[in-house]
Amino acid sequence: MEVNLDKIRENYAQMSDLKLERIAKSDIASLHPDVVPIVKEEIKKRGLDENLYRGIEAQTTEFTEEQVYAMRDKIKSLSCPKCGEHKDDLYGGIIRKVRSYIVFTSYQTKSLIACRSCVEGERKAQLIKNSLLGWWGFPWGLFIHTPHSIINHFLDLRKREETSEALLIGFALENIGELTTNWEDEDALVEFIHHHNNQ
Ligand SMILES: [Zn+2]
Repeated sequence: MEVNLDKIRENYAQMSDLKLERIAKSDIASLHPDVVPIVKEEIKKRGLDENLYRGIEAQTTEFTEEQVYAMRDKIKSLSCPKCGEHKDDLYGGIIRKVRSYIVFTSYQTKSLIACRSCVEGERKAQLIKNSLLGWWGFPWGLFIHTPHSIINHFLDLRKREETSEALLIGFALENIGELTTNWEDEDALVEFIHHHNNQ
């Protein structure tokens, strides 16, 4: 496929800084290899954060198992994005949320990365809300989603260490550009995880 680099360069020149930074941190692997230097040029032209090059590099080179574990450990070492405390290693947990509305029942699962007491606190709070607010949606709330979420809550308890490892490693791999760019800016990383938790 022929790529019109001039046209692409023009598009990048008109992009907002925010969008350009987002592409540099998370979309590099999906770009045509000839487009990556255009992104770098544009970052240089605008004088944006030089750490972005490091994030771009991380998305275009193969990484080792050690690098993945180093990213996981970096996440673990941050302050809790929920309570701001720095008591123990951060931890990942699954939050199960069932809500019944007039005509439908929604069942969502999402991951939460925070300190152990914030994750467990949120899991318990949702368990209670699921039992109170999930059951009356008939039939999905009463017969399907609510019992499912409650059973899984207890199953999750038995494998929480593995779940946490898998969630942290998954998060590291998905966000390799962001983590590498802000490796030294821990406040930015905590803010990024906070944003992920609230999505
Ligand atoms: Zn916390």
